[in-house]
Amino acid sequence: MLVILSSDCSVADVAAVESAITAMGYTPLAVPGENRTAICVTGNKGPVDPGPLRGLRGVVDCIPVTKPYKLVSREVRAEDTVVDVDGITIGGDAHPILIAGPCSVETEARTLRIAEAVKNAGAAMFRAGAFKPRTSPYDFQGLGVEALHTLRRVKQEFGLPIVSEIVDAAHLEVMIEHVDVLQVGTRNMQNFALLQRLAEQPRPVLLKRGPAATLTEWLMAAEYLLAGGKRDVILCERGIRSFSDHSRNTLDLNVVPVVRQMSHLPIVVDPSHGTGRRDCVRPMARAALAAGAHGLLVEAHFDPRSSYTDAAQTVDADVIRGIHDDAAVLARLPALDAVGAGRAAVLSSRP
Ligand code: PEP
Ligand code: MN
Repeated sequence: MLVILSSDCSVADVAAVESAITAMGYTPLAVPGENRTAICVTGNKGPVDPGPLRGLRGVVDCIPVTKPYKLVSREVRAEDTVVDVDGITIGGDAHPILIAGPCSVETEARTLRIAEAVKNAGAAMFRAGAFKPRTSPYDFQGLGVEALHTLRRVKQEFGLPIVSEIVDAAHLEVMIEHVDVLQVGTRNMQNFALLQRLAEQPRPVLLKRGPAATLTEWLMAAEYLLAGGKRDVILCERGIRSFSDHSRNTLDLNVVPVVRQMSHLPIVVDPSHGTGRRDCVRPMARAALAAGAHGLLVEAHFDPRSSYTDAAQTVDADVIRGIHDDAAVLARLPALDAVGAGRAAVLSSRP
């Protein structure tokens, strides 16, 4: 349930509502909004009786929340969340953002060369893995802390904010020091202990969808982050497991307009892991933007075939430039009804 208070309510009114929620055996969570004060009731197993809350001073409405996820839902927050990374905005009506870089950080010289190439091709952020979650223990595991130092050089030289995957909460301190956005990879989407730790640190989190996760499971994983106090969360669709033998995964673009209806969080799409094939990356990047993605995450290299990891899906800088140009063309399309209608329906049910 969402308890809406009048915009001129006092701090004491809010405190009284929070105490009443606590007395009912639930946990109150304030939901920041531009035009109203709202408190979400969490910890309930079934419907919440609004009786004890309705009469309290300042309370103007009690709205039942019908989904198991609350803080990530549009029912609780109608306005799009816009994530700010060093002045670059992701979400809402912001121009779609292009995040690019190699799958893994390589030698410093090679990584700097890739960064220069993707920056010149239009990328706004640089993404590369220092700690790699590999299916085989015998495969390259990433260069670890040395790679984080390389990523810092990239930021110093080219001014590109850095995205990199965190695989272990033990790396949190050093990752926060070197990285602007912490990626949670597909394998860790439901690592709830890791999510709880990430909720309490200062960096935005990019949460990839698990390879077999339903939309509800994915949003519940994001809910862990928001329930722990994190607001700047970006969702990333990266393909799900299917019977396909023509692609590494099946990029689920159906989910893009649906996420935008159900959640206020920004969603980016990763056509590299979603397809596993460099020839499919630009077409699916176009499709993702046309479906309403707020950005793209693309694996790129000056010499894709020599990439340390994920070479088959890595594209060169010309493809990045092409995707960047496609984004400019697609941005001129009028907004889609499916997304707008979801948002409008929620907004119109609000005081
Ligand atoms: C990656 O981004 O390189 C990666 C390992 O991605 P995913 O978690 O989507 O497999
Ligand atoms: Mn990869």
